[in-house]
Amino acid sequence: MPGFEVIGEEEKKEVLEVFETGVLFRYEFGDQRRGVYKVRQFEEAFARYCGAAEALAVSSGTAALKVALAALGLGPGDEVIVPGFTFVATWEAVLDAGGVPVLAEVDETLNLDPAEVRDRRTPKTRAVIPVHMLGSMARIDEIVEAAGDLPVIEDTAQACGGTFKGRGLGTFGALGTFSFDSVKTLTTGEGGMVVTNDKTLWTRASEYHDHGHDHRPVGRGNEGRSFFGFNYRMMELQGALGLAQLGKLPMMIERQRANKARLRNHLAGLPGVTFRQVPDPDGDTATFLAFFLPDEEKARAFNAVLAEQKAGAVYFYDNTWHYHRRWEQLHEKRTPFGRGWPFEQADGRRLNYAPDDLPRTAAIMSRLLVWPININMSEADFERLMSATDLAARVL
Ligand SMILES: *Cc1c(COP(=O)(O)O)cnc(C)c1O
Repeated sequence: MPGFEVIGEEEKKEVLEVFETGVLFRYEFGDQRRGVYKVRQFEEAFARYCGAAEALAVSSGTAALKVALAALGLGPGDEVIVPGFTFVATWEAVLDAGGVPVLAEVDETLNLDPAEVRDRRTPKTRAVIPVHMLGSMARIDEIVEAAGDLPVIEDTAQACGGTFKGRGLGTFGALGTFSFDSVKTLTTGEGGMVVTNDKTLWTRASEYHDHGHDHRPVGRGNEGRSFFGFNYRMMELQGALGLAQLGKLPMMIERQRANKARLRNHLAGLPGVTFRQVPDPDGDTATFLAFFLPDEEKARAFNAVLAEQKAGAVYFYDNTWHYHRRWEQLHEKRTPFGRGWPFEQADGRRLNYAPDDLPRTAAIMSRLLVWPININMSEADFERLMSATDLAARVL
C-alpha cells in the first residue's frame, strides 16, 4: 500500500501552486486564490476515476466512514454489520456515531461473507459496511443484493483504484469511503474521500463535514444550516498531493500487479500453498499477496522460516489492529466516554464481541500469511522472498 514510495516532483509542483496563492483552505478566499481549488479538483478527478457522480474529500478514512454514517442518519442503538477482519476504524466510526457494530464472518475472499448480511440482520440493523481488505474486492454484487433495502457503505480504504467487473469499487453501495493515510496506495499524508451517486446523501455529507455549512455562495457568515455538523475538512495541500498521486495510481497498480504475479507464480509451485479467492482478478489492486497453508501449525512454522530469512509475512491471526480476536478494547467494551456510551445503547442485547465468536473467520485467519507488495521491488528483494519460501517448504 505504498504511495509514499513514489512521492516526487509531481507532488512538489502541485503543492507549490498552493503556496503561490497562500490559500490553504478549501472554501472562500475567492480573490486571493486565483482560481486554484485543489480539493475541489481532486474530488472531481477522483469521482471520474471511480465512476461515481459525486465525491467529498475529508480529513481521514475514519472521518469518511463517520460522515457516510451521518449522511445515512445513523442513530443511537442502530446496528451496523461489519466484518471481523478489518482495521478498527470501521467499527470505531459506528461506535462514535452511537451505533452498535455487529461482527460478521469473512469467507476465503477475506471479506464479508454475503450470507452473513441476511443471517446477522435484525429489526435494528440500519447499514452494512463490507470492507475490501488487502487490495482486493468483496463479493460486492452479492452483498448489495443480500442487503436489499439496507444501505451499504463500502469501506474501500485498502482497495483504492480497484474494480469489480469493470466498475469502480466504492460505487456499488449507497456510499463508498477511502483513506489516503501514510500506508495507503494513494496517500495525501492524512485524508479520505466519500463517493456516492446520490446527490441528497452527498449534500448531507458535505454539510455534516463542515459544521452544517450549506456552501451557498453568500459568504460563510450568511450560510444556512439544516443540522449541526463537525469539522472533517480536507485542506488544499492535501488536495494538491491527491491530484499528483491520482495521476500515478494506474502506474502504481500496474507495477504492484506485475510484482505480485511474479511472487504468486513462484508460491503456486509449492505443495499445500493455496491462495485467497479474488472474485475478479482483473480488478485487484495487488497491494498484498495473501496465501493459505494447510493449518495453523504449518502457517506458523512456514512463517518462522520466512522470518529467519528476513522474508517474514504478516500473520493477521495474531494482529491486534485488524482482527477481532485481539480487539480487547472491544471485547471489554472500553470507552473513553461516561456511563458506558455508546455500548449501553445496545439495551442488554447480546453483542458478539468475544474473541471466539467468529469460528469460520478464525479457521481462515489462522492459516493465512500475507506479504505486502511494493511498487519498487529489486531483484534482490524477489530473490530473498523466493528462496525463503523454498527453504520454508520443508515444513509442508
Ligand atoms: C486505513 C483504514 C481506515 C482508516 O483510514 P484513516 O485515514 O487512517 O483514518 C479505515 N478502514 C480501513 C479498512 C483501513 O485500512
